[in-house]
Amino acid sequence: MPDVLVAGAGPTGLLTAFELERAGLDVLVLERDARPTTQSKALGLQPRSVEVLADRGLLAAIEPHVQAKLPAGHFSGLPIDYTDLPTRFPYQLGVEQVHVAAAIEARLRTPVLRDAAVTTVTQDDDGVTVTAGGRTHRAEWLVAADGGHSTVRTLLGAAFPGSPARISLVVADLTLSAKPAGLAEAWTLPSSGSGYLLPLSGGRFRTIVFGEEQQRLGRDEPVTLDELQRALTAAHGPEIEVGEVRWASRFGDAARQLERYRHGRVLFAGDAAHVHLPVGGQGLNLGLQDAANLGWKLAATVRGTAPDGLLDSYHDERHPIAARVLVSTRAQAVLGVPDPDAAAVREVVTGLLAVPEARRALASELSGLGVSYPGVSGRAEVPAAPDGRAMLIGAALPGGWADRVEPRSGAEPRLVRPDGYVVWSGGPGLEDALLRWFGRPEAGLPAHAFTADTACATA
Ligand SMILES: Cc1cc2nc3c(=O)[nH]c(=O)nc-3n(C[C@H](O)[C@H](O)[C@H](O)COP(=O)(O)OP(=O)(O)OC[C@H]3O[C@@H](n4cnc5c(N)ncnc54)[C@H](O)[C@@H]3O)c2cc1C
Repeated sequence: MPDVLVAGAGPTGLLTAFELERAGLDVLVLERDARPTTQSKALGLQPRSVEVLADRGLLAAIEPHVQAKLPAGHFSGLPIDYTDLPTRFPYQLGVEQVHVAAAIEARLRTPVLRDAAVTTVTQDDDGVTVTAGGRTHRAEWLVAADGGHSTVRTLLGAAFPGSPARISLVVADLTLSAKPAGLAEAWTLPSSGSGYLLPLSGGRFRTIVFGEEQQRLGRDEPVTLDELQRALTAAHGPEIEVGEVRWASRFGDAARQLERYRHGRVLFAGDAAHVHLPVGGQGLNLGLQDAANLGWKLAATVRGTAPDGLLDSYHDERHPIAARVLVSTRAQAVLGVPDPDAAAVREVVTGLLAVPEARRALASELSGLGVSYPGVSGRAEVPAAPDGRAMLIGAALPGGWADRVEPRSGAEPRLVRPDGYVVWSGGPGLEDALLRWFGRPEAGLPAHAFTADTACATA
């Protein structure tokens, strides 16, 4: 029996499984689809996600597929300069989501079980039982990373409040048999208008269209070549000609978030926990960082070393981050509306973004580098411990935590959580931080300043 089941082999489920496996757990990922998808919704990685993947040794396999290093993010198409961000990666990586997922999947010890759609979930005091692909699986915990239409969310009746979709958009990857003059040959930041064309590999172009026709058609209506031709002609003029449509899908601007990310022994992550308009390149990045936050906490819980409240801190830390992204993407949606009032707001925002502090604040948010949590003083760009342990850099490790904390040499003293966030940086309080984040030291090991009172005060 695995320790943890993961529903969904999207980027969130795969990185969660990777995090749990590197912490020594047995994990089984259950995926509905029989084969890995060849369709990429997301085309970009924000700097914080690049750091997370690099620190885990996952970036090297993604790099050959990178098509652009964009020195900026964007807010509803308004460029937000990243070049002075405090990171090794002050740019967005232009890369198709399938390559990110494939790089993570290739590193899993236990292969993903495909053709295994989760159809029932029941839980009791000791574990979770799941039916997937007609077979029964049981584990102590289930991570639901089964995407925006999460079956697990529906089965559990989990409240998913927010606003329904008001606009309908089409995403398509297509070839062009006749190109309009001046079409970009390299990756650029998206514009906010309908009909933006981004060159992908293999002669394909990515477009997103959202004209009147898309608002009239139902969400289940198939996307046709003619519909795309009409939308692109409206955006680019009569000289554009669609060749072949390789993939097309309708999506909307629903903005919803689970009230609680934990339902007993089921934890939600990625799009299963939050959905929003994919503007500003945020969704994939949110999911990857949910996974990095959840993995070590769930692993410590399974091993029995987690201090009280550690697992619940996953919701406490990550819910506000996604809530803020929902605010940001709603604001971006308003800025993108093609009407004079929205254009006026856009003009004002463009002016504000010329103020360096305003631009830096938004860059920090969009890049993910500004993410912080209570009790955390920053992030450390250091290679993660291969076994998922925390790292104590440049200080002596008190006895009893060596199974959870890897001592490292370094000039700047820091205690770094397995997800890369710094929870002590010199001075007093090291043992309190160890207790708060990594639990009581192993029994029978050398004495240290631990007392029951400090455990209560810091848990
Ligand atoms: C058009 C578009 C463009 C986007 N662009 C960007 C971008 O540039 N940058 C960005 O950061 N984000 C972007 N996003 C958002 C991003 O693609 C998602 O946030 C991301 O895919 C979320 O990953 P996930 O693993 O949580 O969910 P998903 O990628 O949806 O993966 C869920 C997985 O669960 C599986 N599954 C579903 N039901 C079941 C079941 N019952 N049992 C088992 N498995 C199941 C699915 O087959 C799938 O493999 C975009 C989204 C869209 C629609």
